[in-house]
Amino acid sequence: MSTAPRSSAGSSAPSTLTPELAIIGSGSGNSLITPFWDDKHVVLAEKGLGPDAVFGGTCLNVGCIPTKMFVRPAEIARGPEEAARLDVVQRTESVDWPAMRDRIFSRVDAISAGGRRYRDEELENVDLLSEKVRLTGPRSFVGESGTQVDAERLVLAAGSRPILPNIPGMDLPQVHTSDTVMRLEQQPRRVLIVGSGFVACEFAAIFSGLGSEVVQLARTERLMRTADDEISVAFTSEAARHWRLRTSTSLESVAAAGDGAAATARLRDAEGTVEDLDVDVVLVAIGRRPNTDLIGASEAGLDLHDDGRLVVDAHQRVVADGEPVEGVYALGDISSDHQLKHVANHQARVVAHNLEHPGDLRRSRTEAVPSAVFTHPELAQVGLTEPEAVAAIGSENVTTKVQDYGDTAYGWAMEDQVGLYKVIADRRDGRLLGAHVMGHQASLLIQPVVQAMSFGQDAHTAARGQYWIHPALMEVAENALLGLDVPVGEEL
Ligand SMILES: Cc1cc2nc3c(=O)[nH]c(=O)nc-3n(C[C@H](O)[C@H](O)[C@H](O)COP(=O)(O)OP(=O)(O)OC[C@H]3O[C@@H](n4cnc5c(N)ncnc54)[C@H](O)[C@@H]3O)c2cc1C
Repeated sequence: MSTAPRSSAGSSAPSTLTPELAIIGSGSGNSLITPFWDDKHVVLAEKGLGPDAVFGGTCLNVGCIPTKMFVRPAEIARGPEEAARLDVVQRTESVDWPAMRDRIFSRVDAISAGGRRYRDEELENVDLLSEKVRLTGPRSFVGESGTQVDAERLVLAAGSRPILPNIPGMDLPQVHTSDTVMRLEQQPRRVLIVGSGFVACEFAAIFSGLGSEVVQLARTERLMRTADDEISVAFTSEAARHWRLRTSTSLESVAAAGDGAAATARLRDAEGTVEDLDVDVVLVAIGRRPNTDLIGASEAGLDLHDDGRLVVDAHQRVVADGEPVEGVYALGDISSDHQLKHVANHQARVVAHNLEHPGDLRRSRTEAVPSAVFTHPELAQVGLTEPEAVAAIGSENVTTKVQDYGDTAYGWAMEDQVGLYKVIADRRDGRLLGAHVMGHQASLLIQPVVQAMSFGQDAHTAARGQYWIHPALMEVAENALLGLDVPVGEEL
């Protein structure tokens, strides 16, 4: 084991470290340091994420976890809307943003700080390099302090970051990304949200639920364009009932407004009409780019996709000149075509195994990858959209069923008017191809289809091979499956 400073922070002369394992990125990469490495030297490089340079990556600090901790109170604040349908009069008196923010981040920050402390101070075999690093070769990198790392095995888990458009005003303090907007001092009264994908739609639901005036700007005609068309159309019109939507419109610039606290955003629609909108905060959420440029992946000879992601093989090995590089792996947003934490976690488990068992490499799973958007109403999907299914097996072989929540018993109890559950299957053998759900708890209700697809159950077996609790909302999944035109097998 090479001798090294416990942490690069405050270290003096640059040193060279020669660990058995080096990892760039403390998000999903952090979980690779299993007990297998207890007697081996490991270097973990983490530059720190966001303005506070936090440890532990996107999901914990600025992604999945804090957003969902805001989604929940925003849903509760919307309570009176559903209550009114059910003859109950409720009122949301007020929302205490500073208290909510402090509650959320006191929990998140403590976990992040604990994780850093554990890696930095408590594990003898691990060196935490708290600085930005760049590859100097396929298995080596150098930090900003000059510390050189030549590793036996290397994992690139450097994630992705928000994209900012190249327009005037992006450096103003009123302009935020998902990295900073959740730490605002006060809840903004007026928020402009730029983007139509999952991050933009989640924040539109959060801020509008909490009572801010939200305008969401989409360059295209619809929100969530990667979703199944039926969901994208239905969600776009539903979103427009809850916050102001400006579709087919672009952001041209942002300028500080007269009082210095707020900003004026200049919008231009497809006809060329210009509108100046006064807001307190502009949240830019137009997509995320993989951090391959930050680590110098291309200069180090690694292959990249057109969108900047690292090319990896089925075992998560990085690829250079079309060939996998032995002992060098990538995982998560830097290489995955799904920007999803459960995918990054799965890939981390595969990489952990492959690092420990180079003679018995596992493949990462690419089938039946589900995702959810915790917006309002909630969205979830797995597998193919209908156009993708038609392209794959021909329209004559595709069967679909759209089941409204409102046509099930629990849907009556909710007086639900928006929820829909769409399933897609191969009519020849009942093979499930996809599911697309919009409505209350969509992320939970989709799981039986994820399970059936993962374990190769056909639609009829999934529907009739088990009991479904009556009259739970889950019956919407059962009814959707039963509505498909597929071969009928054995009954429970
Ligand atoms: C607002 C938001 C909400 C989300 N919600 C969900 C959700 O509900 N469900 C879901 O599944 N996914 C969600 N995601 C996506 C999810 O957070 C990511 O897919 C996941 O965190 C990616 O993990 P990772 O390990 O690949 O990267 P990260 O967790 O981003 O880790 C990469 C780390 O590498 C570090 N790094 C980068 N470059 C360097 C360098 N040169 N030197 C040193 N360190 C470096 C970074 O600082 C970072 O800490 C959300 C994302 C956002 C932004």
